[in-house]
Amino acid sequence: MNTKYRKTVIAGNWKMNMTASEVRPFVEELKAAMPKLKGCETVLCVPAVNIPAMLRWGKDAKIACGAEDVSAFAKGAYTGEIAANMLADLGVKYCIVGHSERREYHKESDMLVNAKARALLDNGISPIICVGESLEQREMELTMAHINYQVRAALHGVDASELRRCVIAYEPIWAIGTGKTATAEQAEEVCREIRSIIREIYGARPARSVSILYGGSMNAKNAAELLAMPDIDGGLIGGASLKPADFATIIAAAGAENE
Ligand code: PEP
Repeated sequence: MNTKYRKTVIAGNWKMNMTASEVRPFVEELKAAMPKLKGCETVLCVPAVNIPAMLRWGKDAKIACGAEDVSAFAKGAYTGEIAANMLADLGVKYCIVGHSERREYHKESDMLVNAKARALLDNGISPIICVGESLEQREMELTMAHINYQVRAALHGVDASELRRCVIAYEPIWAIGTGKTATAEQAEEVCREIRSIIREIYGARPARSVSILYGGSMNAKNAAELLAMPDIDGGLIGGASLKPADFATIIAAAGAENE
């Protein structure tokens, strides 16, 4: 992490776990276990129905509320969808887009990911833009080409002032929910490449300021090593964000790097 130039972000992704009534006890347990934060933004991205509870109980604990998905459309006949202005109206600050699970199970294209990021930016919400290669792509040495394409596609039409509100998450698909973490060196190599792609598009200053997270089986044991890398500015955490003690340990690891 380079805390001089950019914000540290520790974001949980609850996926399809937890009910609204479980939010309060979770946040209370997390609040009791987590250290006082300095220069580290803690976010919990939760299922849409849990957002009001997370906003209510997370406030005291200085936990920002994130959504897990958003519609690319502003309004209208899109049954079941939630528009960015609806999230903004509630007070949601972040929203994940381009998660590999949505790319795979919901066939979300790079164009759709870009449209969702745009919708969020237009409504003052920071997109957490996920990119990452499959195991097959890594084995065929296509990682960097794939990341290059995904980053450029997701940021199409996003200007430098909007980039400041974006967070990029490098999530190798083979490491998500598998218990197989990228080594700190593997994660750093790709995060550094993402920063250099952003430098090519926007220039040195925006590249230096953008927060790039690692995600993929980050846990209480491996967080410190990953977060010590210069181009890894935080984590997007699935499984371990469902355990208050583990999530608190990851936040503490980020806090220690911030001191
Ligand atoms: C994720 O879902 O974004 C993720 C990184 O999950 P996990 O930490 O469980 O691998």
